[in-house]
Amino acid sequence: MEHESDRVLEGKILHEESYPRLQEREVLIDNAFKMDHIDGKYVREVKMSSKMQESDHLQMLFYLYQLELRGVQKRGLISYTKEKKTVEVILDNDERAKVKRAIAQAYRVIEQAKPPVVKKLPYCKSCAYFGFCYVREADEYAT
Ligand code: SF4
Repeated sequence: MEHESDRVLEGKILHEESYPRLQEREVLIDNAFKMDHIDGKYVREVKMSSKMQESDHLQMLFYLYQLELRGVQKRGLISYTKEKKTVEVILDNDERAKVKRAIAQAYRVIEQAKPPVVKKLPYCKSCAYFGFCYVREADEYAT
């Protein structure tokens, strides 16, 4: 899991050094999920690069949807430090349907007797969950 630890550490340093105005960092909701920052109107996430923009978007939709279920309406902002850009995420009807489908799909995977076969994706090497998907190959990729 060294690869994963490195990614997590890299993320922590990124949060320490980037966007210092975000004083209140890492908000834990119901002991279930953790967001980088939440303020008056926005949930904010800081990412190194936009390589995984689609999954970042879905992650933000998940946060917004979970907050909405708890009676809290927010918008999302994802800041990409490498590209120095910030994108806004709004939970409208289409996006709500999208995140509900993704959650249902995740439950279908969880309920399977065996995990699905791993698909090697170009960004797997940059993923914090690499160690879970490639447990036997982690050493090969680490070099
Ligand atoms: S390492 Fe696993 S979780 Fe990460 S992108 Fe690849 S398949 Fe998905």
